[in-house]
Amino acid sequence: MTTQEDFQTGILPTWCPGCGNFGIWMALKNALTKLAIPNHNTVIVYGVGCHGNMRDWMHIYGVEGLHGRALPVAQGIKLANSGLTVIAVTGDGDCIGEGGNHFLHAAKRNPNITVIVHDNQVYGLTTGQASPTAQKKLETKSTPQGVVEPPLSPLSLALVAGGTFVSRGFAGDIPHLTGIFEKAIQHKGFSVIDVLQPCVTFDKIHTYEWYRERIYTVEPSNTKKEALNASMEWGDKIPLGVFYEEQKETSEDFEAVATLPLVDFPLGIPKRDELLQMFT
Ligand code: SF4
Repeated sequence: MTTQEDFQTGILPTWCPGCGNFGIWMALKNALTKLAIPNHNTVIVYGVGCHGNMRDWMHIYGVEGLHGRALPVAQGIKLANSGLTVIAVTGDGDCIGEGGNHFLHAAKRNPNITVIVHDNQVYGLTTGQASPTAQKKLETKSTPQGVVEPPLSPLSLALVAGGTFVSRGFAGDIPHLTGIFEKAIQHKGFSVIDVLQPCVTFDKIHTYEWYRERIYTVEPSNTKKEALNASMEWGDKIPLGVFYEEQKETSEDFEAVATLPLVDFPLGIPKRDELLQMFT
C-alpha cells in the first residue's frame, strides 16, 4: 500500500515559510498516494529554481536538469522506459523562459509525461527577477519601473502547440490541485498544469488573498478555440480547472520503441562482425 511516508526523505524543505511550493509539494504527494503509484516506478525531473530543491525532500527517483532542460530529460526517460511514470516539476522561468522551445516541441510531440509549472511570475532562486509569465507593471529587481511587455501564458502556448491535457491549479487550494494532478498523471499524453504559486518573498502583489478574490473553476471546453479563450482570461476573474483534454497518439506510440521500450532491447549489436566488415 502506498502512503505519504513513502515520499518523505527526512530532509526538511528550505523554502521560505508560506511559499506556494509547499502546497504544490503536498498536492503532488497526495495525488501519487491516491493513485498508488510506487516511488520505485516513478521519475521526477526538476528544472532549476526554488521548485527544483524539491528533489532533496521527495523520495522518488529524481534528476535535476540544466536550466530549462527538464523536458528533454523527461522525454528521454520516457522514451527509454515507457513503463515509468514521468513527471517534470519545473518553474515558469525554467519552462517558459530558458526551456520555452522545449516546451513547445514537447507539446507538439505529445509524450506521455506530466508537466507541473510552478508559476510565480519571478525567478525566486536568483532573488526575484521578472519571469516570462510576469504580468505587466509588476515591479521586480530586473524591472524596477514595472514589466512593460505582456506575459506569456503557459496554457495558451500548450494549447496552440498541441498539448492534450491543459489545466490550471492554485497552490492555496490543495484538495483541488490534488484532483487536477491525479487527472493529469492518469492522462495518456502531454499534460500540463500551470500552478498559480505565490512567491511570498519577492512578489507582494500576487498573494494568496489576491488570488482567492479572483479564482473560479471552469469545466473542460468542447473545442480548443473555447479553451484558448478561457486560457487568456486574467484580471478580475482568473479561471482554474481542466481547460482542455483530448486523446491523441503519443510520441511513444509512433516511435520505433512502440513495440519494445528501449530498456527491453537486447544488449549488444546484432551482426556486429558483418557491420565491421563493411568498414574495413
Ligand atoms: Fe518560494 Fe519565493 Fe522563497 Fe523561492 S523565493 S522559496 S519561490 S517564497
